[in-house]
Amino acid sequence: MLRFASVTAIHNVAANGTSIVPELAEVEQSRRLWDAGLGLKVEEVLIRRPEIRVFRGTDVARLREGLKGRVLAASVARGKQMAFRFGTEADRWLGVHLGMAGRLRVEPPGFIPAKHDYLALGQRKHWLVFSDRRFFGRIRFYQGAEEPEWWRNLPPSILDRRFTAAAVDAFLRRRRKTPLKALLLMQERFPGIGNWMADEILWRAKLHPIRPAGDLAPEEARLLWRVTRDVCRRAIDVVDQNWEYPDAWLFAHRWEKGGRCPRCRTGLLRAEVGGRTTCWCPRCQPETAVPGT
Ligand SMILES: [Zn+2]
Repeated sequence: MLRFASVTAIHNVAANGTSIVPELAEVEQSRRLWDAGLGLKVEEVLIRRPEIRVFRGTDVARLREGLKGRVLAASVARGKQMAFRFGTEADRWLGVHLGMAGRLRVEPPGFIPAKHDYLALGQRKHWLVFSDRRFFGRIRFYQGAEEPEWWRNLPPSILDRRFTAAAVDAFLRRRRKTPLKALLLMQERFPGIGNWMADEILWRAKLHPIRPAGDLAPEEARLLWRVTRDVCRRAIDVVDQNWEYPDAWLFAHRWEKGGRCPRCRTGLLRAEVGGRTTCWCPRCQPETAVPGT
């Protein structure tokens, strides 16, 4: 159990102590933490403060009844959303969105909920716990043979075959004036991409965050698509392997005071773009297209 707790702590906090809003990789990590409960029955369902925003639109009595005595059968993540499916038919869906500060963790038997622990599923070996100190997360419940609407309507994952270069290209053309940074944060096309991943993608693709989407040459659009998939895949690999992002990533330096580009050692710049603090390398990411790229 200690391993679970320490892993959560490392991953959600950057080197300087900045708390990271959960993005695709953190969501995937959270989902895997709760996979400790696969094949085990839920013996107890603990819900605290059902009136808070986290449970809006959810019948908590149905949720409690629906999960009690059922086995955790499967889990899946799509962008920033997770679904945990329970029961022999896997027809009971617990939807989890972490919002800004939601966390999943696993606690040993004898667990006593802390202030912001709002849902806990007691299994023989442990508790699966959801906490949210800012209430932007969301818990949903659905029972039925079909996929719930809130799951069915989600855009395809970036690692799905349906996330194609053509789809990205069409999106860029529809949003010609949108700065690339703001574009990458649009969940309807880039589910699971948040602030740090968007910066990482643009840095790797050597694209300036304020360049308008319509300004990209076809080969730059294709590069953006390829790098987006690559960063997602690698971020999930990091979760799989050592839980720490390599020094060669922008991620490892973006919060550092006086942080330098890991590629060319130029001082990194920061500014608000698309309402979020954006970090980039002025040398690797020129503001205008470089001829021949
Ligand atoms: Zn650089």
